[in-house]
Amino acid sequence: MKLANVDGRAVLLTTDHTGLDVEQVSDGKFGPDLPSIYENWDGFRSWADQAPAEPGISFTRSQLGPPSPAPGQIVAIGLNYHAHAAESGFAAPDHLPPTFTKFVSALTGPDSEVVLPAGGQVDWEVELVAVIGRTAHRVAEDEAWDHIAGLTIGQDISERVSQLAGPAPQFSLGKSFPGFAPVGPWLVTAEAVPDRDDLGLGCAVDGETVQDGRTRDLIFPVARLVAELSRTITLRPGDLVFTGTPAGVGQGRNPQRFLRPGEELTSWIEGIGEMRQTFVAEQEEA
Ligand code: ZN
Repeated sequence: MKLANVDGRAVLLTTDHTGLDVEQVSDGKFGPDLPSIYENWDGFRSWADQAPAEPGISFTRSQLGPPSPAPGQIVAIGLNYHAHAAESGFAAPDHLPPTFTKFVSALTGPDSEVVLPAGGQVDWEVELVAVIGRTAHRVAEDEAWDHIAGLTIGQDISERVSQLAGPAPQFSLGKSFPGFAPVGPWLVTAEAVPDRDDLGLGCAVDGETVQDGRTRDLIFPVARLVAELSRTITLRPGDLVFTGTPAGVGQGRNPQRFLRPGEELTSWIEGIGEMRQTFVAEQEEA
């Protein structure tokens, strides 16, 4: 099952450009907004499994917003792939990897234009994102998938100068400029992807592939991550968990490479879809 945010309304996809308007088809039982659907995820799933098989409405990519548009928390994880930890100059974590937030004001839909902060070094990090569908506090690893509504794509766009300046890294700030958390193009439930624990993911800059990995290489796979996080924090319906990026970020290259105005970043995950970001220079203040 695929669930999209089309102009703020929940749409159950029938193809990549048509779907059922949930509020209309459910006679107002669910929707139209996405947050109320995550609050009642189990009820929604039962209804969606019986939803009528009709093409429904048509939409375009420009109408898509983030599949969870108002998460209470965006949790993000660093150094969760061995090769990426190595390229970043760190030992792979044996405890829960570095955990930070991307502030909610950075969240956007799947296709967007992103302003490059002046004087910054802006990097790409394609990541599998889990959307929480049932409150998770102290859940066991073998029950964690029951608390996940589905999966989507995220770009953990990162400005490395501000991230690494000062006495201790500023992960949360350096990764939270406006538009630095594009997510989408829609949510796909775990049984609808080829293998929820082994999905190809990658991204390309102007058509040149820069990251190309598989989620089976996650040091803390999705279920273990959600279980470990839930020992400390309470994950709530609609919350997003960015699970970490594979190798190939610009900072880890020799020579280093960062995004430039006019470049296009395409990000994909097998069985989910793709997102597109274009980058523009920050306008000087008059
Ligand atoms: Zn990241």
